[in-house]
Amino acid sequence: MSGAKAVRVASGGNPARRLYDHIGEFLFEQRLEPDPANFAFAYHLLADPEGALAKAVRALTDGGVRLTQRDIDSLDCDVKPVASGAAAKEQADGLVAQTQMQVEGFHDMVAAMRAETEDFGRDLAASAKAIGDLPGGIPEVARLTTEMLERVRTAESRLDAATREATELRSKLEEARDNARRDPLTDLPNRRAFEEAFSAQAASGATMCLAVCDVDHFKSVNDRFGHAVGDRVLKAIAAALGEACAGHLVARYGGEEFAVLFTGVDKTAARATLETARAKVATRNYRVREGDTPLGEITFSAGLTVASVDEMCATAFQRADRLLYAAKEGGRNQVRAD
Ligand code: GH3
Ligand code: MG
Ligand code: MG
Repeated sequence: MSGAKAVRVASGGNPARRLYDHIGEFLFEQRLEPDPANFAFAYHLLADPEGALAKAVRALTDGGVRLTQRDIDSLDCDVKPVASGAAAKEQADGLVAQTQMQVEGFHDMVAAMRAETEDFGRDLAASAKAIGDLPGGIPEVARLTTEMLERVRTAESRLDAATREATELRSKLEEARDNARRDPLTDLPNRRAFEEAFSAQAASGATMCLAVCDVDHFKSVNDRFGHAVGDRVLKAIAAALGEACAGHLVARYGGEEFAVLFTGVDKTAARATLETARAKVATRNYRVREGDTPLGEITFSAGLTVASVDEMCATAFQRADRLLYAAKEGGRNQVRAD
């Protein structure tokens, strides 16, 4: 049942019960958490199916399309839901960015203070020596200057420790940001990194081709040799793809699916690169490390499309995915382009 259908309240039966059911169906279809804000949103929407809000949502979800966070943001209503995943991700990204800025600021401030105390400490040391050298000296001033100098040195070592902490924190944050965009098994960028790269490339106006590669009959590798061997095969395919498509972005999009973002090359060149990768994977002799048993032929199929700069990553991906499906239907171990 589509979101559009869900906002139409049918007649007959118990109206309260139907409204309640429709609220549940709508939240489920739109993958919205059943929390109070989302319930309130669905209630406003479904209790008045001919209202402006219902019409707007109907237009956005026509054809079974799910509401995105951007759609939700565009709606004119007081109670708004949050598209699952998206908001949490945005919030986490915001927090990380904010923390990173604070750490950067702290790091700069500490470094500046450290430089200042260093100058001050040097001047003070020179003064203390000059006072001490004076015939007859001024004991009280000399004592105070020496004490001040000690305090400056303590402050300096504390600032040094703070600078080290800030530097460590900064590199941990950078690592966390990188981990969030990297697939731990293959060490390739993940889907999130791929989508971000697509948006960045699209914004720069560069020519882009997008390919989706899916390992053929991969389930049977797991079934015959076990998950651990399957994992090693995925790593080998990831490495082969990365090597063959060097200079372009190869990502593990999910499961046994890889995506390649070709930039600055036309479809013919992208296709030739992809064919090289396909042949490289298909002709390799895969063996189980323990016992040297051959795994048999491992292949992948791919769909390749030219992505325009004004389309969403998901739209180009869907096109490539349809071509991938055609490649599977056509016998696998092949590349299909539009
Ligand atoms: P097709 O040619 O139609 O793509 O067939 P397939 O068997 O590759 O496709 P299917 O979608 O039926 O199975 C995909 C399998 O990939 C099932 C899943 O267990 C396996 N898989 C997904 N992620 C991983 C992973 O990280 N490690 C391992 N070992 N297997 C994975
Ligand atoms: Mg698959
Ligand atoms: Mg597969």
